[in-house]
Amino acid sequence: MFFKSAKINEFRLWGLVFTLVGMGIMILGTAGIVLWGQAGKIVAGIFMVFGMIALLISVAVYFWAGMMSTSATMLQCPECGRQTKMLGKTDRCMFCRTMLTLDPSQATEHTPETSEHKA
Ligand SMILES: [Zn+2]
Repeated sequence: MFFKSAKINEFRLWGLVFTLVGMGIMILGTAGIVLWGQAGKIVAGIFMVFGMIALLISVAVYFWAGMMSTSATMLQCPECGRQTKMLGKTDRCMFCRTMLTLDPSQATEHTPETSEHKA
C-alpha cells in the first residue's frame, strides 16, 4: 500500500495538481506573447496545447474519482468515529488516515501504521 492518504482524497489531489499545472502553463504561454511579441505567439500556442492536455487529464482524474466514489464502501471509522468512504479492500480513513481493511486476514498486519494515530 503506497497511498499516504485515502484513495479518493489522493485522486482529488492529483486532479487539483493537473488543473493548477494546466492553468500555470497557459498563463506562462500568454506571458510569452507579452515578452516576445510575434515569436511568443508560437510558444503560447504550444503552451496552450500542453495546458489543455493537463486540464483534460485533470477532468479525467476528477471523473474517475467520481466514478470510484460511487462504488466506495461507506463505513464508520473505528479510530475517529466519522463516516468515511473506502475503495477496495484496504484504504485509509479520509479524516485521520488510519488504515482500514475489510479483509480480516490483513487486519493485524498494518498495526504499526495505525498505532501512531492512537491517543
Ligand atoms: Zn478516521
